[in-house]
Amino acid sequence: MQVTRELFNEVMVPNYNPAEIIPVRGLGARVWDQAGNEYIDFAGGIAVNVLGHCHPDLVAVLKEQGEKLWHLSNVLTNEPVLRLAKKLTDATFAEKVYFANSGAEANEAALKLARRFALDNYGPQKDQIISFKQGFHGRTFFTVTVGGQAAYSDGFGPKPGAIEHVDYNDLSALEAVMSERTCAVMMEPLQGEGGIISPTQSFVQGVRDLCDKHNALLIFDEVQSGVGRTGELYAYMGLGVTPDILTSAKALGGGFPIGAMLTTTAIAAHLKVGTHGSTYGGNPLACAVAEKVLDIVNTPEVLNGVKQKEQQFREGLNAINAKYNVFDEIRGQGLLLGCALNEKFQGRARDFLVASANEKLMCLVAGANVVRFAPSLILTDTDIQEGLARFERAVAAVVNA
Ligand SMILES: *Cc1c(COP(=O)(O)O)cnc(C)c1O
Repeated sequence: MQVTRELFNEVMVPNYNPAEIIPVRGLGARVWDQAGNEYIDFAGGIAVNVLGHCHPDLVAVLKEQGEKLWHLSNVLTNEPVLRLAKKLTDATFAEKVYFANSGAEANEAALKLARRFALDNYGPQKDQIISFKQGFHGRTFFTVTVGGQAAYSDGFGPKPGAIEHVDYNDLSALEAVMSERTCAVMMEPLQGEGGIISPTQSFVQGVRDLCDKHNALLIFDEVQSGVGRTGELYAYMGLGVTPDILTSAKALGGGFPIGAMLTTTAIAAHLKVGTHGSTYGGNPLACAVAEKVLDIVNTPEVLNGVKQKEQQFREGLNAINAKYNVFDEIRGQGLLLGCALNEKFQGRARDFLVASANEKLMCLVAGANVVRFAPSLILTDTDIQEGLARFERAVAAVVNA
């Protein structure tokens, strides 16, 4: 069968508009398309491919598990899921794990658990969920409604209720809407899709304090910020603020779909037998791969390497900016970085993305004004230097157009 980009338009639901090229192979931070062109990947499958493409250890564990046991359902448990849960609980504040297949599903579980916890402990009036404008939590109807962009949740009929949004980093706005009715506050400890926005230390601590004051659960959505992305295993570890529930996905599987919700024993107790579930969640194939991802990422070499590589990116991007004057700031943490376009280039992030693709560099945007990088956590110095050289040519192309 001749597979072309035109076939996409013919047979796929038109909710995406992918690039014209079709990648067929990847290795490390490099990807090749059908025509054999080599790309440098600074997008990482949207902060997923933490160990690049086809990391030999991940390929090995995938093959090994693939010849042993793929799937059982939750009628039976399995060895990889229990090993992964043990390692996640050993490495974090959490004592219990629920597995899902995606970030949205992990968040759906977190929100349902928070509602059930409040109902059991305080009664049905405690149902308010507060989240933040520009936040992103997935595309199921509950999670997209908790997300802070009405454009994503409008147009699908009546929304789940008792959900409020306030400005990120605005503690007094949060304080004003919080009360004994508040069941949970959900936030990204580093907003990703919303434009790579870091919280201030005093804001995160203030959110924690307000949650404690009002007996509300604090949910950190670490679907994008987790698994080494910021140079910490989870971003909360660098903030000194511990959530009650944490969700993880994207990087956790290194490219294999998996999601997880982490919490304490006392909170987890409210998802009793039969209250929630998933056919694939905790599937041995996904868990075997995720266990290997965690083994590799949760090491000083990789985590310190992220901080080092962040400096290389920042230096390179600052040098480009000194020449072309296109960014207001380089923001974010670790290898989740955003170049915020200055006044002159407002709304043109996509132009930089297209120009980068022309230079055989894959990057991302985060809204209309931010060019985002979320590469492999173990890309080489050569990948960084060559990728930034391509990015500089892309910037020059946009500026000189
Ligand atoms: C990507 C993302 C999600 C959704 O994850 P899916 O796997 O696409 O469902 C949720 N929260 C955050 C912060 C994300 O970046």
